[in-house]
Amino acid sequence: MKVHLKTLGCRLNEAELETWAQAFQKSGHQITRQAQVANLIVINSCAVTQDAARKSRQLIRRIHRDNPQAKLVVSGCYATLNQDEAASLLGVDLVVSNKDKDQLVEKTLTELNMAVMPSMSTEPGEISLFTRGRQRAFVKVQDGCRYRCTFCIVTVARGEEVSRPVQAVIDEINTLHQQGITEVILTGVHLGGYGSDLGNNLSTLISTILAETTIPRLRLGSLEPWELSDDFFALFQNPRLMPHLHLPLQSGSDTVLRRMARRCKTEEFATIVNQLRAQIPHFNVTTDIIVGFPGETEEEWQESYNFIKKIGFGHVHIFTYSSREGTKAASLPNQLNGDIKKQRSQQLHILANDMKLQFCKDNLGYEFPVLWEGYNEPLEGGKQKVFGYTPNYLKVSSLINNHESVENQTISTRLIAVEELSIFGEIIGSPLSLSS
Ligand code: SF4
Repeated sequence: MKVHLKTLGCRLNEAELETWAQAFQKSGHQITRQAQVANLIVINSCAVTQDAARKSRQLIRRIHRDNPQAKLVVSGCYATLNQDEAASLLGVDLVVSNKDKDQLVEKTLTELNMAVMPSMSTEPGEISLFTRGRQRAFVKVQDGCRYRCTFCIVTVARGEEVSRPVQAVIDEINTLHQQGITEVILTGVHLGGYGSDLGNNLSTLISTILAETTIPRLRLGSLEPWELSDDFFALFQNPRLMPHLHLPLQSGSDTVLRRMARRCKTEEFATIVNQLRAQIPHFNVTTDIIVGFPGETEEEWQESYNFIKKIGFGHVHIFTYSSREGTKAASLPNQLNGDIKKQRSQQLHILANDMKLQFCKDNLGYEFPVLWEGYNEPLEGGKQKVFGYTPNYLKVSSLINNHESVENQTISTRLIAVEELSIFGEIIGSPLSLSS
């Protein structure tokens, strides 16, 4: 898919465009400078003055007139402040408000049903899975993969596994911590393979980080569900290791998994999840699923759907299979037609939302140390809405007074309500008063 990105306004808007461009590319899409040839156009609007808002409206209309076939997504300040107006403008398919900007790529691909196969299984996930911010940073510890999953181009693109020495990782985390970062996410193309070239493993890396840094929150990025050593699970007893894992399952049917050449079949996957849940309350397991893999029969699809439902995930990243040149899967027989893939994807989106809602509800009434982010939404009546994440990566909002700040603070918060997959929390500790 060809994506054209356009911005009005400030430098921040420009910087966001760059981040989105990278995320679209990593999700297997191409960026084009020509709006006329794009399949998807994203506009980062501005509303700093009346004139800027007028220009934003004009730009949206002109872009749609010039390329009415393209899907149109609008974000930025004009779209946030005038959400209904922006949504009703001719041609606008999706409005992403400023508070969701960091998930714009994922939201676009999911809600407009445009998620295609990423060029690599795990790496692109981080971009859309986790929000960056002043309090959270990614630390890449590993590159390459020695496996050959048939849909994945990674072995061709990224070569053999190479791990960063433990000391280099520790030094980077300590530096980030000194700079004010509170949460670090370890990432790798095949994170579970960490240390295969150094004679150690991921568990050793994690325990050393926990021992030799004082970073308050350590999180793991997308992790293939195999090669996890026996001592891995016990690491989560340390509350500084966040109780959330993104374990790409890809399919809940063993015969499909075999065609994908995955190393983890459904039974082993269920064992891992059960072990995590038995040990750590409120453990969040999220996953990636590819729908419409070559030859996926109706029976296999049902089997997959039922397994996914049985496991129950906090979030499912859904990809519709698309053939990628250079992969073994591209030459497999019985490639499915678009209608079947679309129908299965829609079915899974409904299930994914139900499961997410259930997971949110399961967490209601409990208190968690929420790390509050810098972004806030001003409201009327002297209040502002603030956003943060629980250790198990639930996004929480709360209301505080305008003269208060919770930015980059971890404060105990009780989750009290869930509305349309969004959780509202009551801050138990006291926010910092800016006036004192
Ligand atoms: S384990 Fe499979 S899907 Fe993951 S990076 Fe390696 S080849 Fe790709």
